[in-house]
Amino acid sequence: MLRRDSMKATTTSEPEPGERPASVWGFALRSVVREYGWLFIRRVAARHPWRTLKALREADAIDATARQVDLGTGKTVTAELSQPSIVGAGYCLKPLSPACPSGRPNHDCYCLEALAGSDAAGVPLPCRACAIREIGMHALHAGSAFYVMTSARDILDDVYVPALEARQFETGVFVLCRYSFKPFAVGLLASGMRARMLPLELGDCRDYGTWLLADLGIEDEQTTVEHAVMAGVASVLCGGASAQARRFQRRGNVLHPVAAGPAARRGPGVL
Ligand code: SF4
Repeated sequence: MLRRDSMKATTTSEPEPGERPASVWGFALRSVVREYGWLFIRRVAARHPWRTLKALREADAIDATARQVDLGTGKTVTAELSQPSIVGAGYCLKPLSPACPSGRPNHDCYCLEALAGSDAAGVPLPCRACAIREIGMHALHAGSAFYVMTSARDILDDVYVPALEARQFETGVFVLCRYSFKPFAVGLLASGMRARMLPLELGDCRDYGTWLLADLGIEDEQTTVEHAVMAGVASVLCGGASAQARRFQRRGNVLHPVAAGPAARRGPGVL
């Protein structure tokens, strides 16, 4: 039986010398026998084989040790990302002690869905310093959808396919483990998205075994986001911020920004 604690290589913020973030080809070969792999082939790759091949090549060339990775062409990427279609963060950021009231792993965030309270007293204790909440509120202020990312299968259903079939998401900002940068980039690029990926700091997956366990919902460590990375999220999203009051409305697994109703106007949460 796989044990996450025995398989985790390290919890430092930068890959150690000699550590190699996933080769996208190796990752693809291992995943093709899994449900996510063949569904990705059927729903994305088979429809756009050349774009998927190009995505594999581009993703494999990514420097996964970089502070951030931009996917897309031209100088417009940063400007576009000030108001991305969607912002995502891994469920592993949910706090363990005190525990997230929405549980884990899932797409739920009670605090963002309810936007409970306009001051610290109205925000449940576990939520007050929660990175999910902080990133989600930046997304809300930018007018972007927000997504608590869980498994690759769900990301396929909730992000890649809607982006491909309905152009629902054209741009995105995502906070995830460096190990996932390359395979995640394949899905984004093959779906026609432009995006920025920012890394988790501590507790992140460092090999296929730990990634697979986290993908199955077995993640007994809380990951963290480095202050500079959170500042980077705030910086890119504040470019699209507006004074318009909003709240989130959940559709499926994604929280979508809508105009604030009377209840939300009393206090759309605080950072
Ligand atoms: S803000 Fe964080 S701790 Fe609170 S419900 Fe959302 S994910 Fe859980």
